[in-house]
Amino acid sequence: MILQGKTALVTGATRGIGRAVALRLAAEGAQVAICGRNESLLQELQEEYGFVCFAADVADRDSVRTMVQSLVSQWGRIDIVVNNAGITRDGLLMRMSEEDWQQVLDVNLTGAFHVSQAVVRPMMKQRSGRIINISSVVGFAGSAGQTNYAAAKAGLVGFTKALARETASRGILVNAIAPGYIDTDMTAALTEQQTEQIRSQIPLGNTGKPEDVAGAVVFLASDDSRYITGQTIHVNGGLLI
Ligand code: NDP
Repeated sequence: MILQGKTALVTGATRGIGRAVALRLAAEGAQVAICGRNESLLQELQEEYGFVCFAADVADRDSVRTMVQSLVSQWGRIDIVVNNAGITRDGLLMRMSEEDWQQVLDVNLTGAFHVSQAVVRPMMKQRSGRIINISSVVGFAGSAGQTNYAAAKAGLVGFTKALARETASRGILVNAIAPGYIDTDMTAALTEQQTEQIRSQIPLGNTGKPEDVAGAVVFLASDDSRYITGQTIHVNGGLLI
């Protein structure tokens, strides 16, 4: 229970990595709030685990502000924020629509901007806080058919470094995690052949589980990482060695 007494917000936590992160933070003693767009999944999670749930689209600045204000007035403080909400809209650059480009940037990158901007003020007041941004191996290595996603995920790394410099003097630590291939709905669209091809490039021999990312989040949220800021932890089974 290394996060006893802490409060945490995880975006995009109705499924996949975000859900596993929320469950693990709660298991470590944190009070957890989550957001997503699927209201029935949010309701289930609220009933099953007692999470504070918000139907909020991170691309919508006003919804994010309302959510954070409500949390701060309920909890009095906000210790940990995990910018996890993300989408893909894959396609070759030559055929990519403006909409597919923009939606991916709006959710994956601008979403983190909206949430971070809303939480930085209360974190500055309390002179502590952890912001953890979920990037991707694709932001480092690229991936054909994912120029929009790679740009957003690489952008998150620069965002992490700049915000870490801006807020370090106020006790706020900002780091990123770059997962490799993790078994979730996002990767379920790959064919067995594609998954096999990816697996063959992973030194540890298999794709990851959402819980593998959750472990790194707990580390970055805990006191054990108190001298680490502006960094990215790679959770990819060695894919990027
Ligand atoms: P999933 O598609 O399984 O889950 C995505 C989550 O984000 C859902 O809970 C979804 O909830 C939520 N979400 C999507 N759009 C929004 C939005 N606009 N506002 C709020 N919530 C939103 O994805 P993963 O769990 O696989 O991915 C989680 C994060 O990890 C993403 O940022 C992804 O890019 C990153 N990542 C994933 C990898 C993988 O291999 N799976 C590898 C590297 C990085 P709802 O539908 O309710 O809105």
